[in-house]
Amino acid sequence: MSRVPRLHIQGSLAGGDVTLDAETAHRLRNVLRLGPGDAVRLFNAESGEFAATLVELSKSRGVARLDSRLREPGRDAGPWLVAAAIKRGPLDTLVEKAVELGVGEIHPIVTERTNVERVNVARLDAIAVSAAEQCERIDPPAIAMPVTLREKLANWPRERRILLCAEAGTSIPLAQALGGVDFAASWAIIVGPEGGFARAELEMLAADPLVTVVGLGPTILRADTAALAALAAFQLSSPRGRISPRAV
Ligand code: SAM
Repeated sequence: MSRVPRLHIQGSLAGGDVTLDAETAHRLRNVLRLGPGDAVRLFNAESGEFAATLVELSKSRGVARLDSRLREPGRDAGPWLVAAAIKRGPLDTLVEKAVELGVGEIHPIVTERTNVERVNVARLDAIAVSAAEQCERIDPPAIAMPVTLREKLANWPRERRILLCAEAGTSIPLAQALGGVDFAASWAIIVGPEGGFARAELEMLAADPLVTVVGLGPTILRADTAALAALAAFQLSSPRGRISPRAV
């Protein structure tokens, strides 16, 4: 089963035949060298995951017949990652790895010291889908449009608590903070830019009762490393961390 290619398909997978677009048909024919009669797995968070068989595959389209449901629909309630925008390469890798590590949603933000012009959300969406296909998630996380830190906090859902990774100032070790976390609650992990948060930003965040300021150890980690270290620690400390792969 594990070698059967997994394809994230937009729209309802309700049974019968599913039409695959030209891009997917190209990938199946020319990259994965598949044809009619071959098995695939089709999934999305709204419909779940299905075993399917290719019944038609041409240059312009494909058709797959849904055989049986493998997984129920659903979304992981992993933490949001609120990360200051960083350069393209590290950001692409960060998104890919964050999906693998169970992130719930990804929220790029612009802070005082952000030195990145633009964030291509469409490209990050495609990276998140491909990562979900690879790591056996059925729910590629949403990637929000980038906004400033102040805008993000001004519209913050007050039931979602925050672990703020701060390379300076008073903090408690993340491991200690995770020891007291209610994983049934909603959480977010905030990470600053390569240049770090400005003092005023750290003070504004630390003053918010939803925020726990955490440290990630003695070394100054790159922003992408810090985000992935915090996500990994969160997942491995949570009940999700006790689920073995392919048990779901
Ligand atoms: N330029 C900053 C400096 O030299 O102080 C370092 C910023 S660091 C490259 C990028 C972000 O990663 C920080 O804003 C923070 O969110 C996080 N980070 C890095 N190392 C950390 C640590 N040891 N503890 C907590 N957060 C850390």
